[in-house]
Amino acid sequence: RVLVGTKVDETHANWVTAYNMLTGIRVSVSRTNAKLDRDVTLADFDVKQKSTFDIAGNELVPSAKYDFKFKDYAPWVFRNLRSLFRLDPADYLMSLTGKYILSELGSPGKSGSFFYFSRDYKYIIKTIHHAEHKFLRKILKDYYNHVKANPNTLLSQFYGLHRVKMPYGKKIHFVVMNNLFPPHRDIHQTFDLKGSTVGRDYKEDDLEKNPRATLKDLNWLRRKRKLELGIQKKQMFLEQLQKDVKLLQRLGIMDYSLLIGIHDLRRGNEENLRGKTLRVFNPGGDIPEEADPNQVLMRTPSKLENQRKARELRQMIQAERPVPMGETSSRMPDELEEGPRPDILFHQDDGGFQATHEDNSPADEIYYLGVIDCLTHYGIIKKLENFWKGLSGDRTQISALPPQEYGDRFLNFISGITMSQEEAVREAQERDAA
Ligand code: ATP
Ligand code: CA
Ligand code: CA
Repeated sequence: RVLVGTKVDETHANWVTAYNMLTGIRVSVSRTNAKLDRDVTLADFDVKQKSTFDIAGNELVPSAKYDFKFKDYAPWVFRNLRSLFRLDPADYLMSLTGKYILSELGSPGKSGSFFYFSRDYKYIIKTIHHAEHKFLRKILKDYYNHVKANPNTLLSQFYGLHRVKMPYGKKIHFVVMNNLFPPHRDIHQTFDLKGSTVGRDYKEDDLEKNPRATLKDLNWLRRKRKLELGIQKKQMFLEQLQKDVKLLQRLGIMDYSLLIGIHDLRRGNEENLRGKTLRVFNPGGDIPEEADPNQVLMRTPSKLENQRKARELRQMIQAERPVPMGETSSRMPDELEEGPRPDILFHQDDGGFQATHEDNSPADEIYYLGVIDCLTHYGIIKKLENFWKGLSGDRTQISALPPQEYGDRFLNFISGITMSQEEAVREAQERDAA
């Protein structure tokens, strides 16, 4: 499995930031993991765990290459969230910091966020605005309770909220979250759907240059695509989506989307057999990104690599010994395993959710899907945007709607496109007859 991204190494402009992010995570998360388990308390939501790193190090903080400050927000809550999402603590740290390799994906889109993949492609680090950071802290309790009550939530899985600050530098806030797409499967098409049609079009002409671009609502409609789910799966999916959207509405959130990656089983992974074809990830979707020779290929770890990974982990834990952090996991590193977590409903089929016919028999696609970008509060900016856009055009079709309407339109759109092939054919016949 070959993926593409710009490797962040010592020569990369963001190397120091990336190094500091990973060092902070390694030290702070191991410290939290080493503690004896106990329930989450209300006070845990307000905790900020600060560490100051320098070349010398001290009893609590090991030495680092650079001077920086790191803050871990609500570490105990996130430890519990990771456990609710069934992450193995050692695996998590290993993926992110076993080797300091990240690949940076695309430069900022509209929002200005940076995206980094862990080297095994399981996790995404997204830098976020201060407003999004403050907002996540504000809603963390609601989010946590929601995840507890909804183990199959489709919302972004947040694993950590952190901040780094370099001397004289500005504060960089970031979250660690799940990569919805699997390391082991080609994603043949990607859609980012909001349920709006205004400006929701990826220029079809640009697809030639950038065949794996993230497509949008109008591209979906133009292709007469459906999210092919038979009766049972459709119901499970829409029920969960409704619950998730209800939370977003209650919290005043909008501008999120349903991200859908489609793996076509008829095509399989053939494009990767020679390691020639690359998946180009393009946040924002507007800037065509072509694979350039400076971009570094990353392979999904093989079994052998996994064993090496386990060895590295053991060394890492040993290296950490002088620091009073303890083991990062009770599980033996040798047991580390790659792959999907089938205990989550929408990951049950090879890490995704397989398309079905009306009678629930399997169809030819696997969907990897979830609700992303859910930290935008309907604030003053959106109100202004709504006002200006509202002066021209149909108000229900623009994207900056108040949260209640945004969620209703979103649900409406997604329910409208979720149907088995058989159902779609019947619907078309009925339309033709009318
Ligand atoms: P904007 O606010 O302009 O939409 P943003 O910087 O907030 O942009 P997102 O909307 O969060 O970015 O994500 C942009 C793109 O990055 C998505 O369309 C998708 O292609 C990819 N992406 C984001 N989150 C994930 C994820 N968890 N898994 C896989 N891909 C993701
Ligand atoms: Ca978005
Ligand atoms: Ca955003």
